[in-house]
Amino acid sequence: MSCEYCLKEIDEKYMIDSKGNQFCSEHCLEEYVEDGEYSIDPHPYEDTYLLIRSSYIHLLESWEKSLQKVTEDLEDAVDELMEDIDELIDDHYDFIFTEGDDGPYAWEIYQYTIKLRELQKQIFAWRPQRKTYYWISGSDHYGIIDANEEQKHEKICAELYLNGYEEFLVFLIDQHQHPYHWGVNYIFERRDMAEEALKVLLPFCSKHGVDVSLMEAHKCEAHCGDILEADADTYVNSWFYCYSCKESDKHGVFTLQELEMELAYYDNDEEERQVIIYEREDWCAPFKRKIKRSCRALNYEIPLWAD
Ligand SMILES: [Zn+2]
Ligand SMILES: [Zn+2]
Repeated sequence: MSCEYCLKEIDEKYMIDSKGNQFCSEHCLEEYVEDGEYSIDPHPYEDTYLLIRSSYIHLLESWEKSLQKVTEDLEDAVDELMEDIDELIDDHYDFIFTEGDDGPYAWEIYQYTIKLRELQKQIFAWRPQRKTYYWISGSDHYGIIDANEEQKHEKICAELYLNGYEEFLVFLIDQHQHPYHWGVNYIFERRDMAEEALKVLLPFCSKHGVDVSLMEAHKCEAHCGDILEADADTYVNSWFYCYSCKESDKHGVFTLQELEMELAYYDNDEEERQVIIYEREDWCAPFKRKIKRSCRALNYEIPLWAD
């Protein structure tokens, strides 16, 4: 396909006029009209067409960049984007219903609803490029360490201090302490910096019987901020979660059998359905999101009570 005005090949940013002529850009369409090839009458679908076209192009160019900027609750960010696109598609219900059977603009609008559905599939399957962190790990415990470890940790810190590593110590504790592991547990964004820190720490740690190692880690993709070993088997539907976020059961999608059970249960129980609709309990909102996500994944219609 080529542009009616400049004859160049057209891409996904093409534009049509009310007669169905195709142009590579808004510019070429304007030039074509200015050249007096013909006069265009205002068309009732023109604004709707221009709006859905520009929304589609904007989404196409921005969705991945906008998701890449999200630092927590990534799965929810995808859900929100999917819902925005749902709304955009639903706004054009009339054109979908008639399958675009009312002239070139109607046809194009209908095509955009199909392209938006395709785009949704692509977005739904998106997973982030996981950032690797480097974790100097000296204990396996979460949170507070026991008295014995605490003592060892204090001795290590004291000796670092006495050996002229005061600044290093402050730098470690202020900027690199693991968010959920106290004691000798430090997180670095760069491997070389982690290796250097480990070199300093090693003799002090081994003197006090603390095993330290360096491992690659990723951040939990929910909002807890936890960082855990990269080879942890805590994926849920290819999202990376910490142990507690995985166990929370809010993430990922139901299996077909689970989904059918949940749908049947809430379709049949008016009282429970009211709890969900009005989100009377804390679990309702994330549960609804999981229902919606599962419906998308398994091509089920989203029930009204989950919407
Ligand atoms: Zn052109
Ligand atoms: Zn988490």
